[in-house]
Amino acid sequence: RGDNDQLASFWMPFTANRAYKANPRQLVSASGMYYRSSDGREILDGTAGLWCSNAGHCRPEIAEAIAKAASTLDFAPTFQLGHPLPFELAQRVAALMPDGLDRIFFTNSGSESVDSALKIALAIQRAKGQGTRTRLIGRERGYHGTGFGGITVGGLVNNRRVFSTLPGADHLRHTHDIGRNAFARGFPRHGAELADDLQRLVDLHGAETIAAVIVEPMAGSTGVLVPPVGYLQRLREICDRNGILLIFDEVITAFGRVGAPTASEAWGVTPDIITMAKGLTNAAVPMGAVAVKRELHDAVIDSVPGGIELFHGYTYSGHPLASAAGLATLDLYARDGLFDRANDLAAYWEDAAHGLKGRRHVIDIRTIGLVAGIELEPRPGAPTARAMELFHAAFDNGLLVRATGDIIALSPPLIVEKAQIDEMFGKLAELLETID
Ligand code: PMP
Repeated sequence: RGDNDQLASFWMPFTANRAYKANPRQLVSASGMYYRSSDGREILDGTAGLWCSNAGHCRPEIAEAIAKAASTLDFAPTFQLGHPLPFELAQRVAALMPDGLDRIFFTNSGSESVDSALKIALAIQRAKGQGTRTRLIGRERGYHGTGFGGITVGGLVNNRRVFSTLPGADHLRHTHDIGRNAFARGFPRHGAELADDLQRLVDLHGAETIAAVIVEPMAGSTGVLVPPVGYLQRLREICDRNGILLIFDEVITAFGRVGAPTASEAWGVTPDIITMAKGLTNAAVPMGAVAVKRELHDAVIDSVPGGIELFHGYTYSGHPLASAAGLATLDLYARDGLFDRANDLAAYWEDAAHGLKGRRHVIDIRTIGLVAGIELEPRPGAPTARAMELFHAAFDNGLLVRATGDIIALSPPLIVEKAQIDEMFGKLAELLETID
């Protein structure tokens, strides 16, 4: 095992990075709610991998579907030619989207979905004779993946400084005020007016320069930021008034995470474009997708020379193995009623998370669906160290959580049992007493 650890950080230093080097840990197998580590321990998965294994790990139905595809049609292109699996999957995905978003484009990851969505937005504006609209608006504390587009609109300022490429992009600045909910349950009741920050950018730049706004309905990777009541509606209104397209990045939230097929449905706000990935295939094979409003998509096809070719299908768009995994995954979600299950368990989850109120270091707790963000007081002089220490302590005690900044995020597979929810928050409660 020692050799393996060294090999990983030598040959894969970009991902097996400092955190791994300091504390090399390997996961070697998985089943249902559990990982098994290389030292033979069971680890309760409090994060569905990386917000993605919504049906739990190594589900035989998905494995069999992948194996069948691998031995029947391992690959076929989806432009100029076609094959049945992605066609069927596109139809099934469209049925889970809000009304009207039924034009589906398959990618291989969340980052590709975001970059594709941004390109589609620019193409739509151009097709509408709005070619001056090239500016894209994201949010501070937004996370949209690691493509050039996603970084440009994303909120990781250091990344942006080095890699930002799209000219004129700007960022809503109010996101820090969205996060805290002062231990209140449910959605923050106040703060819809924070969305008026978009009006400020419209006034600053001129509506005629802005193509699209991209937000995560619930920002996950940057600390579980649950929008206040009315906030997403307000963004929608400002976009409508000003001819701006609204993109929801649902890479985390689609496929049940917030107790509905999409966050758009949960919040009752319909964007023009939705990006997704992760839960689409239960993460068993990489795949992402973009859903576009039919009327907008068809306007582009009809009027842009080259039509859909402009969108650059990927070699692996609609890959048979991924499509098979997607179909089997959506079958499982439906058969086991996992989106409803997430919704039904949300109140129990919220109560359990709020059991940490009053524990050492805890300064805020936010939940939505089967997501929780436990915000810790930053350690003086060493911000983020406390959450990292809790992450390590939890792993050593058989629980996988995610440390992001000073926040511990949890997002278990939607098959989680109540006893496992108790175990997660019970362990965290104990461990909070043990860390500085
Ligand atoms: N958008 C959001 C909202 C995400 O959370 C992520 C990944 N955590 C991405 C995009 C990027 O997805 P991927 O890592 O699959 O490229």
